[in-house]
Amino acid sequence: MHAFTKLYQQVYRDNLLFGLDTATPLNLVPAGKRANSVAVVGGALGDEGKGRVTDELTAHFLKTHGEVIHYRDNGGANAGHTVVVGKIKIALHQLGSGILQKGCTIVLGKEMVLHPEDLVTELEMVKTATGGTIPAQVLIDEQTVLSLDTHRAFEAALKNREAGGKGSTGRGIAPAYADVLYRHPVRIRDLTAQNWRKKLVKHYQLYADLIDGLGSTLSEQLVPRLIGENIAVGSEKEFLARLEQARETLLPLCADVHEFLKTAWSGTTPFVFEKAQALGLDLRWGVYPDVTASNCGFDGILSSTEGVVNPQAIALKAATLKATYTSSVGSRQMPTVMDEKLAHRIREDANEYGATTKRPRDIIHIDLPMLSFLCRVGGVEQLVLTHLDIAYPEVPIKVCVAYKQGKKTVGYRPDQEFLNTVTPEYIELPSWDGKALVGVSEFAKLPQAAQQYCAFISQALETELLMVTTGAKRREAVRWL
Ligand code: IMP
Repeated sequence: MHAFTKLYQQVYRDNLLFGLDTATPLNLVPAGKRANSVAVVGGALGDEGKGRVTDELTAHFLKTHGEVIHYRDNGGANAGHTVVVGKIKIALHQLGSGILQKGCTIVLGKEMVLHPEDLVTELEMVKTATGGTIPAQVLIDEQTVLSLDTHRAFEAALKNREAGGKGSTGRGIAPAYADVLYRHPVRIRDLTAQNWRKKLVKHYQLYADLIDGLGSTLSEQLVPRLIGENIAVGSEKEFLARLEQARETLLPLCADVHEFLKTAWSGTTPFVFEKAQALGLDLRWGVYPDVTASNCGFDGILSSTEGVVNPQAIALKAATLKATYTSSVGSRQMPTVMDEKLAHRIREDANEYGATTKRPRDIIHIDLPMLSFLCRVGGVEQLVLTHLDIAYPEVPIKVCVAYKQGKKTVGYRPDQEFLNTVTPEYIELPSWDGKALVGVSEFAKLPQAAQQYCAFISQALETELLMVTTGAKRREAVRWL
């Protein structure tokens, strides 16, 4: 008997849907909370479609208030998501998904790690797509840390030594965060300062020595670019010349955002917090050692805003999950990995290839011990289920409900060595024809098995549903908004 037996019977025997069928919108102005504020986090191992959700929330608030602030506080060019607005389809990495919407102010926060040249390329891509202007306003916290080609080169040199993060995206994320721990970060205000060259030269020389110590040469090390082939880092002069170009574009966007945030948070402008990566990649809660270096939880918002925004006060704190499976890209090995035949079918149907690195993603079963652990430690209160259309009527949905170590039932722990010792126990839930529900936007019009599945998963994770997506386009979703 597993922990979810009673819930299984309530949903699948008694058809209890826990109020989902009443289509009552969630309260965006709950007592004691900051009205019209929503934070969205990845609930599993990344790539759960946060951009799509924050984009819809932005559109909602633009309709109700005519303005919205988007705040991002973690990660950098390792993130990647595609946003479609009208005829424009664009892959975003460092910019929030509100960039394509007028009335939106995007704030890139203190605890992000930004790659200046890639950011400029991304801004150019937005301009090209929109015909010359960037619809949203962009503000970069002057304290934001830089993640430079030196960091990418250092990460590559570590990989040559088979040390460091085996599964990393190669975007120099961990070395940039490590600079903060070592107390020698380069912040964007250092790049925009008058005497910026002095600090950047010192930084280049430090990394040249570090990389030399690892048996590689900084100037020759190849590093990735947002577009095109990898390039060699080059000499100190070449490194500075590339930064000088980026500096000119970024200078007008940098600001001391502290007072701006304080005033805005005590006012009425809606806020959308778009976290990057996911709880299962978090430095503390991810499957160690294949974790990213940032705080991927809601609590990172408190430190990045220097105490201005307490996540406890945010009205909705939602996690996104793929409804019927989970994807994973990196070197972690999950006990719930699917057999390759079904994984291949899902990978092709849902285009499960990395947005940043194009790597094919591993496809794993919905793993309730892992997901309930992540929702609990992450303080998740609402849920967005995406890709409900990835379901095949003849293939029951296998959901992991417990882990066994021999005969003993054990809980989830975020540690690869521990996960290597467990055997998952599954139940099989009735499936539906995914193709038949593409575009459905009313809960009552979903097949009964899909309704029951949504109720089962949201209850198992002790969350309330905010949205379920049934296709890639904006209107293809059921909302409780
Ligand atoms: P890093 O963030 O580049 O250091 O990579 C650390 C781990 O997090 C690797 O397994 C990456 O594949 C994974 N990762 C980082 N960012 C993302 C993301 O946006 N989506 C999915 N996986 C990611």
